[in-house]
Amino acid sequence: MAHRVFEFQILLFISVLLFFWILEFVLFSQNIKDKLSHTFLNAKFLFFVVPVQFSLSIAVLFVSNYIEVKHLGLLFLLPITKNSFLFFIVAFVILDLFDYLYHFMMHKTPFFWKFHQIHHSDLDVDISTTVREHPGETFIRVSYSILVICIVGATPWVLIFKQIIQSFSNIVSHSKAKLPPKINNIVSRIFVTPNTHHIHHHYELPYTDSNFGDVLTIWDQLFSTFSKLKQSEIICGVDTNMAREDNENFKKLISRPFLEKDRCSQDKIKNEVVLVKKRYLFFVFFLFLSGNCYCQSSVKGVLTDDKNKPIANANITFLGSHDGTLTNVAGIFVLKSNKTYTDISVSYVGFESKIIHLKKQNIDNLTIALKEETTTLNEVAVNYGPKKRLKKKKTIPHIK
Ligand SMILES: [Zn+2]
Repeated sequence: MAHRVFEFQILLFISVLLFFWILEFVLFSQNIKDKLSHTFLNAKFLFFVVPVQFSLSIAVLFVSNYIEVKHLGLLFLLPITKNSFLFFIVAFVILDLFDYLYHFMMHKTPFFWKFHQIHHSDLDVDISTTVREHPGETFIRVSYSILVICIVGATPWVLIFKQIIQSFSNIVSHSKAKLPPKINNIVSRIFVTPNTHHIHHHYELPYTDSNFGDVLTIWDQLFSTFSKLKQSEIICGVDTNMAREDNENFKKLISRPFLEKDRCSQDKIKNEVVLVKKRYLFFVFFLFLSGNCYCQSSVKGVLTDDKNKPIANANITFLGSHDGTLTNVAGIFVLKSNKTYTDISVSYVGFESKIIHLKKQNIDNLTIALKEETTTLNEVAVNYGPKKRLKKKKTIPHIK
């Protein structure tokens, strides 16, 4: 049954394509010779695209049938399986989001852009541009869709429903026939129109990297990739290679992703490298900062007895090291080390040495109170933080 539906889909696709091709020809009274030669150039891609598309479609059918039988994927986790209408709508919206992400990926990844730019290389976008796709991209696109089918849980009927709308939208969005601005402003709030998609075909950034939507424009609006440009200002192509002899030669186009390291890819790679370098520098800077923050311990404070009398000559060290100091006559000590320590040791004549756990690596106001007079010392209290807080507290926590 699904095979029949796919045959129907192809027939529908060709019929819609033909209808809009004729409409475009009549509306724009183009030179028939030019229009035919442009169409034939783009149609040549079908000789390579169709075999790739069909062979992978067998895998698509197999996977989606398996998904339907086993009820696998995101859609089957949602409470919508009993309502077919809702199921189809939700499935369509989710799949359209994945198509948006696919298109975004084809532009932002230099390797994928090498293939996708063939579609963008058309200097005269019209209905026939719909089929101008490098077979390498067909392979990437269908492989990606198999992955998406598994994640989303798209059944064969969901795919058929989605592809009928998608094909129609793709054909119409490449049409030279544009919507009047006022109508476009309303329709393009939800759907991709020829007006918005032609902006995506504008030869220069940032317009080329905008309006990625396949059927719906909501994703572009949500992720801030939606752009507007006067239709009269649109120049189709890719700014890195606007030469007609390159963009109208099928052999050059089909071999471009493999042969030349085109300027655009080079620029994108350079940009990526710069970006990676920036990230790397940031990472080094972060490490440097981290090193400064964490490979250093500093503690300042005061040591007193229970009558708040400063204790001089007490030995304060970082535990397990020789980094230490003696308290001065005011009981004040300043401890610094280039290493990280979490404990300090307090020792005083007649007083058993105590270990104090530090809450931070850098403390400015540590108060250590020995709980007896210096003659009978055997307990220590520690307080972190400003003295104001000290006053509010009635009892000082004890460390034993
Ligand atoms: Zn694109």
